[in-house]
Amino acid sequence: MERSNYKIVNINTAIPQDPKAAVLIIYTGGTLGMAYDEDGSLAPFNFSRIIEKIPSLREFNIHMTVISFPQLIDSANVRPEHWIDMAYIINENYRRYDGFVIIHGTDTMAYSASALSFLLEGLNKPVIFTGAQLPIGSKRSDAHENFVTALEIASDIVSGVPVVPEVCIYFGNLLLRGNRSSKRQSIHFDAFESENYPVLAEAGVVIDYDMSAIRPFHANSQLTFHNALDPNVAILKLFPGISRRVVESVLQIPDLKGIVLETFGAGNAPTDAFMMDSLSDAVERELIILNISQCSGGRVIQGRYQTSRSLNNIGVISGKDMTTEAAITKMMFLLAKEKDVDKVKELLPVPLCGETY
Ligand code: ASP
Repeated sequence: MERSNYKIVNINTAIPQDPKAAVLIIYTGGTLGMAYDEDGSLAPFNFSRIIEKIPSLREFNIHMTVISFPQLIDSANVRPEHWIDMAYIINENYRRYDGFVIIHGTDTMAYSASALSFLLEGLNKPVIFTGAQLPIGSKRSDAHENFVTALEIASDIVSGVPVVPEVCIYFGNLLLRGNRSSKRQSIHFDAFESENYPVLAEAGVVIDYDMSAIRPFHANSQLTFHNALDPNVAILKLFPGISRRVVESVLQIPDLKGIVLETFGAGNAPTDAFMMDSLSDAVERELIILNISQCSGGRVIQGRYQTSRSLNNIGVISGKDMTTEAAITKMMFLLAKEKDVDKVKELLPVPLCGETY
């Protein structure tokens, strides 16, 4: 993407006082930013006019800058290059802002939040993803609440320290760790869940933070921006009756370096000879196989059942309690960062930024 094409707009809601915080909003697209145009059809609206849509922003007393992607995207079209762009913008503006809000479609928000948590190593400021199920221009939209509360969280500083110094998703009254979240709802307003990690905050009359779950602020932590992801990965979801042809055609993809194997329950797979042979042959060819459960809660315990013991024996790696979104983006991140396959295998189950225990 041509970075010089980004549109940058400063919105000072704080006039005439000094702003209490500065927040950079990165507008990537998605449903939130849609409004009805003169012809009555939904189109991305000009975010620089956000105060007309949400007049209460004037009371916020924060300095806001909006950077819009040159081409606003439905998040179904998000690619690893977009994640690097988002992380690049944050890195370039890191010192100037107290927090960041990323307006993003809900469909792949959990992937993007996971990816950014890996790309922004040592992050010490809030990066809050949000979006909406209904466009800001529609009567019953959840856009106002999601956006305004995300902004409040991103600018929340107590005694000079940001309250939530990590990548999160704020949606439907819940603040969730980004790399622990998954989209679970396409209709209702409570679109995201985090089955394996506590909710970081619940917003009602007040924003009730669970400080024991939020990553602590580390005064000396330095941000390191990683600008590479390796897309040579795949997800293979098992189902009863999956055939040799399906399994082998995935495992034989040219240049493939890693797969997330979505297994049943606590990490179980069919024990057919073809399955074990194909997987073990792939591991011998240095393909990395990471075992992630299809269940949204719980974790992989390789060896608990006979149907997962053989996965242990052939060198499949346990993905513990990671989400598929965190697993696939972590694999892209580690494959780009570490050239040694054994190092990637060693780091995959290790928590890098709170994505697993
Ligand atoms: N398809 C849209 C997107 O993910 C849905 C949304 O914004 O919630 O961009």
